[in-house]
Amino acid sequence: MFCIFFGKAFYSDFLENVRLVVGVMDFELTPEQKMIVETATEIARDYGPEYWREKDRKHEFPEDFWKSLVEAGFPGIVIPEKYGGSGMGMFEMLLAMETLVSEGCGLAGEWFLCLSAVFGGLSIVKHGNEAQKEKYLPKIAKGMEFCLALTEPDAGTNTLNIKTMAVKQDGEYVVNGQKIFISGADRAKGMLLVTRTTPVDKAPKRTLGLTLFLVDLPNPAIEIIPIEKHGMNYSKTFEVYISDLRVPKENVLGEPEKGWYLLLDTLNPERMSFSAAACGLGLLAIKKAVEYAKERRVFEAPIGAHQAIQFPLAEAKAKIEAARLLNYKAAWLYDRGQECGAEANMAKVAAVEAGTEAVYHAMQTFGGYGYTVEYDVERWWREINLIRLAPVTHQMALAFIGQHVLGLPKSY
Ligand SMILES: Cc1cc2nc3c(=O)[nH]c(=O)nc-3n(C[C@H](O)[C@H](O)[C@H](O)COP(=O)(O)OP(=O)(O)OC[C@H]3O[C@@H](n4cnc5c(N)ncnc54)[C@H](O)[C@@H]3O)c2cc1C
Repeated sequence: MFCIFFGKAFYSDFLENVRLVVGVMDFELTPEQKMIVETATEIARDYGPEYWREKDRKHEFPEDFWKSLVEAGFPGIVIPEKYGGSGMGMFEMLLAMETLVSEGCGLAGEWFLCLSAVFGGLSIVKHGNEAQKEKYLPKIAKGMEFCLALTEPDAGTNTLNIKTMAVKQDGEYVVNGQKIFISGADRAKGMLLVTRTTPVDKAPKRTLGLTLFLVDLPNPAIEIIPIEKHGMNYSKTFEVYISDLRVPKENVLGEPEKGWYLLLDTLNPERMSFSAAACGLGLLAIKKAVEYAKERRVFEAPIGAHQAIQFPLAEAKAKIEAARLLNYKAAWLYDRGQECGAEANMAKVAAVEAGTEAVYHAMQTFGGYGYTVEYDVERWWREINLIRLAPVTHQMALAFIGQHVLGLPKSY
C-alpha cells in the first residue's frame, strides 16, 4: 500500500522508522535471551545462599559454580561464534549477570564473568588482532580466567597517573611497576596489563602514552600478595609486583600509546556489569526481606504491614527498576558501537544508590537477624559496599556526569 501511494523511498524510510521505534521500545526478550535468563535462574538455584555462605566463610573459590557457568556457555556470550562463543552482546551478558545475582548468587553471579568475559573476552573482541583472537577467545569461551591490572597504589582514582613502565628493548617490552587490588590474579591465565610507554609528564596529552598488553600467567616476573578484605572472600584480590617482565611486541593489545581510549571499551562494560550486580543484589535483598516481612509478627500485624517497613522497600524497588532500564540502554548503545559513557556512568550512580538502599532497608527489615550470618543480608551488605568503591568510585562517576553530561567545569 505504501509503495503504491508514497513511492519506494518513503516506504523504506517508514519501515526503517518502525524498526527503530520497535527496536528501542520493545521490551519483549527474544527466545535466546529468555533462554539465558532461564539457564541463569536454574544455575543460581543450584548454588543457593548456603553455598555462598560457606564459600565466603572458608575463603574458597567456587569451582563447581564456575564449571556450571562455563558449561552453560556464559563466558562466551560476548565472543563471536567464529571463536567458539555465542556471538551476542553486553545486553545478554547483563541479563545473565543480573539473573545469577538476583536469584541467589549475590555478587559472585557477576564477578567471575566480569573478570574473564569482560576483562579478557570483550577487550580482545574489540581490539585484538586476528592472531590474538584465535589464541585467546576460544579458550575464554571455554573458561580461561583473566584479570585486569590497572589500579596502582600511588595513582588510585587518578588512573592516568599510573607509573608502571613498559620500555621497548630488542623487539620486546620490559615492564616494571606495581599494581594493587588485582582480583583473580592467582587463578588467571591471562592478564590485561595497563602500562605507560610514555611517562605522563612527557606525553603530548595525559590521555596518551598508555599501552595495553596481554600477559600470559603465571609468570616468574610477577609476584602477587593477597589482600585481606571486607567481603567477596570466595575470590582473592592482590598486590602485584612486576620486575623486568618481558613481553613480546605481538602481545600489545591494539595501538600502542593509545591504550586509554581502547581501555574505555573495557571500563564501560565493566561499569554496566557492576550496575547489573547492584540491581541484582538489591532485588535479591528485597525478595528475601519481603518473604520475611510477610511472616514476622511482633505486634498484631506482620511487620510488612507497617509503612516504615513497606515503603522503603517499595521505593528501592522502583529505583532499581529505573536503574536497570538505564543500564540496558548503556548496553544497547555499546552493542551498536555507539558512545555509551554517559549512560554507563549514570546507570552506575543510579544502580549503586538504589541497590545500597535496598540492602540497607532489607537489613533493617530483618532486625537483629539481619546482623547474623544465617540470614545472608549481612553478606550482601558487605558485597554491595564494594560497588560504591569499584570499578569506578561513586564520586568519580558523579564527576563524569557533572563534566560530560551537564557541561560543568571539571571538578578535579
Ligand atoms: C575488592 C576490590 C577489587 C578490585 N579489583 C580490581 C581489579 O581487578 N583490577 C584493578 O585494576 N583494580 C581493582 N580495584 C581497584 C578499584 O577500582 C579502586 O580501588 C578504585 O578505583 C579506587 O581507587 P583507590 O582505592 O586508590 O581510591 P583513591 O583514588 O585513593 O580515592 C579515595 C576516595 O577519594 C575520592 N576521590 C579521589 N579523588 C577525588 C576527586 N577528585 N573528587 C572527588 N572524590 C575524589 C574517591 O572517589 C574515593 O572515595 C579493586 C578494588 C577493590 C576494593
